[in-house]
Amino acid sequence: MSRRVVKGTVLSRGIAVGKPHLLSVCHLDEVEKKRTTKCVEREILRYQKAISKSIIDVESLQKQLKAECAHAGVAVLETHKQMLKDPLITDVVEEEIRNSKNSGLTVLNALIEEYRERFRSLKDPIIAERFCDIQDVADRVRNHLRRRDRLCLNQFGEEVIIFAHEVTPTDVAEMRKSEVLGIVTQVGTVTSHAAIIAKAKGIPFLSNLSFTNEEIFVAKEVIVDATKGELIILPTKQERAKYLAQKEQLFAYKEALEHEEIASVTQDGKEIGLSLNVDSPFDLKEKTKQQCCGVGLFRTEFLLNSDGIEVDEEEQTIVYEDLLRAFENKPVVIRLFDFGGDKELPARLSKKEENPAMGCRAIRLLLQEKQMLKKQLRAIYRAASAGIPKILLPMITTLSEVDEVNAFIDEVIKELRKEGHKVRKRLPLGCMVEVPTIALLADLVARRVDFLSIGTNDLTQFVMGADRANSEVSHLYTSHHPSILRLIGYVASEANKRRLPFSICGEIAADPRFTPLLIGLGLSELSLHENAFASVRHLISQITKKEAQSLAKKALRLSEASEVEELCLDFYRTKCPEDQTY
Ligand code: PEP
Ligand code: MG
Repeated sequence: MSRRVVKGTVLSRGIAVGKPHLLSVCHLDEVEKKRTTKCVEREILRYQKAISKSIIDVESLQKQLKAECAHAGVAVLETHKQMLKDPLITDVVEEEIRNSKNSGLTVLNALIEEYRERFRSLKDPIIAERFCDIQDVADRVRNHLRRRDRLCLNQFGEEVIIFAHEVTPTDVAEMRKSEVLGIVTQVGTVTSHAAIIAKAKGIPFLSNLSFTNEEIFVAKEVIVDATKGELIILPTKQERAKYLAQKEQLFAYKEALEHEEIASVTQDGKEIGLSLNVDSPFDLKEKTKQQCCGVGLFRTEFLLNSDGIEVDEEEQTIVYEDLLRAFENKPVVIRLFDFGGDKELPARLSKKEENPAMGCRAIRLLLQEKQMLKKQLRAIYRAASAGIPKILLPMITTLSEVDEVNAFIDEVIKELRKEGHKVRKRLPLGCMVEVPTIALLADLVARRVDFLSIGTNDLTQFVMGADRANSEVSHLYTSHHPSILRLIGYVASEANKRRLPFSICGEIAADPRFTPLLIGLGLSELSLHENAFASVRHLISQITKKEAQSLAKKALRLSEASEVEELCLDFYRTKCPEDQTY
């Protein structure tokens, strides 16, 4: 095994030097804690769910293979489906969970190990092939079981660089920055929620590169250069020293920016409001809380408990109250559940859709699941006296959806008042601009709501026709494409005309290279993750509004995203020459 350099895509910027740790390898000797008598039935339910999900996976693969006329594959998968329905995999495992109180994963692992031994003793290559099928089926079930467990990602006990085929948002949310120095995956996209959380935590993340389990197992050390987009397996001593120095330099630069006592005002006096995107309210820095203008986006869909059920009204009320109190007299924008698409759905609503990004998600789902919508609205209104909440509607496509929610809010308020809750006034209601219809109808929607928030992460996928979660089309998925800039400019001018507050909360708002462009397009409020706060504020303090406007004018004349990027990067380098992140 020798030194190897692999090119990848940067999902979260930074440098990491350390020991690799392979996540998605399956350990057959992995044994989980015994369940208590009370939890046994829940464990069986968890196992049954993993089996049903595996069957859904297989059926969807079969459909894909049929479309590709790969009929032999369809037949192989039919045997997998039968195995998943075999009483040995269902009844026997369930009975064993009940008797032994072991977890589904432990029981399944023991069963597979027993089979391995039996097949091995037969010494027949054709029969040995059959074992590969059993293993494949078991891996599928195991993956679903593990996904629910989410064990161990916050307790490595040492500093590691995570290697996996893919990581979920919850995986990254669980990782501790003090232990996880970096993340490397084979697939991933820039605005996937896993990447958004990694950026928020400041964990370097590199993706879309190939590595083998063996080389990662063997490698004692790797370097993740998530500035240039390179992974170095088995680096030389000199490289190690060079990258450690560069990491130190990046850290020192960031620290210096965080200690700057400056306002986010351009040199010619234009004030730019910076609010925070909050995914989990628990670990925000006190200093940023004081310096920001409030919360521009609270992503409530992370309020799902480990069984995939949204937390109840009482618990939601407490979470909202705590967040509102934490920001005292600053506004907090609470977005209604944006379930579905690239984000997890509550387990009971899980279903297979051909195009989940364009399917029944966010407000569409909430308008179907009125009880869920009602509970969330009640919780927000009940928590309201703790601060200054605003309500944001995700994925609005038509104005009638806004009207329907508005009418529903009237009913909820009436009900709360009848029950004796004090509801002083209606809370400001805002609309996400994520679907092109709403951007194009900005003048009309501006009359129906109290504020707008441009969600460029989703807007980009719909304008560019490129799934934000599909790394195969990530070359098309660019939020700084001139077409998106034109739409942002249009929304900004319509909102400014009517003095309607509006901001951008997509990832582009957290990238200081594009901050001048957004200001030039008419933005005076940005909502971004805490980790980008200091660098965006610093950039604002280095430019004039006039410069920003002239940059935006030039960008609007370009035809390619790469030209916009180059223009903005050149400008950025003249303003922040010390920053080596880009
Ligand atoms: C967006 O779409 O730009 C956005 C901020 O929402 P999310 O990333 O949560 O979909
Ligand atoms: Mg969105």
